Amino acid sequence: MTVTPAHLRDLAGRAEALTAEVLALCDRALRPELEPITTARDTASRFARGAEELHRAADDLAKLQAQPCGLPWGVCPEHGNTLSSRAGVTECRVCRRTWDHDRLGRPCEEPVTWKVIDRAGTETRMCDGHLLGARAAAESATFVRVEESGF
Ligand SMILES: [Zn+2]
Ligand SMILES: [Zn+2]
Repeated sequence: MTVTPAHLRDLAGRAEALTAEVLALCDRALRPELEPITTARDTASRFARGAEELHRAADDLAKLQAQPCGLPWGVCPEHGNTLSSRAGVTECRVCRRTWDHDRLGRPCEEPVTWKVIDRAGTETRMCDGHLLGARAAAESATFVRVEESGF
């Protein structure tokens, strides 16, 4: 089957809920010092660690699955078409973030997060940064957030 980051996040959420349930139960114990109760508490903290690890696994999987945007010029991931390149260094005019290569002159490697459908029905997939430019240029287009996909 296909495993998606959403599956892992769902399981992490259940592990968190279980942690809370076990702790709540231990808090109601009349004699919390008894060994079975302390064992249950230890188990709860293991569930909590497991939940954190599942969240991390979900993030890692999301990164692995991300498709690169691939539009032929680079953008600032936060500000869009705000880059200028000079002598092999690229800088965003808004946030002043720099890249030590000609980012503007290379295909975009940011993950695809949007699908843009223009009036003619042509679909283009792009990253957050490229979307900013597309929104400004094509008011009549439809913008759809791309869901996380599985393998
Ligand atoms: Zn910027
Ligand atoms: Zn892009």
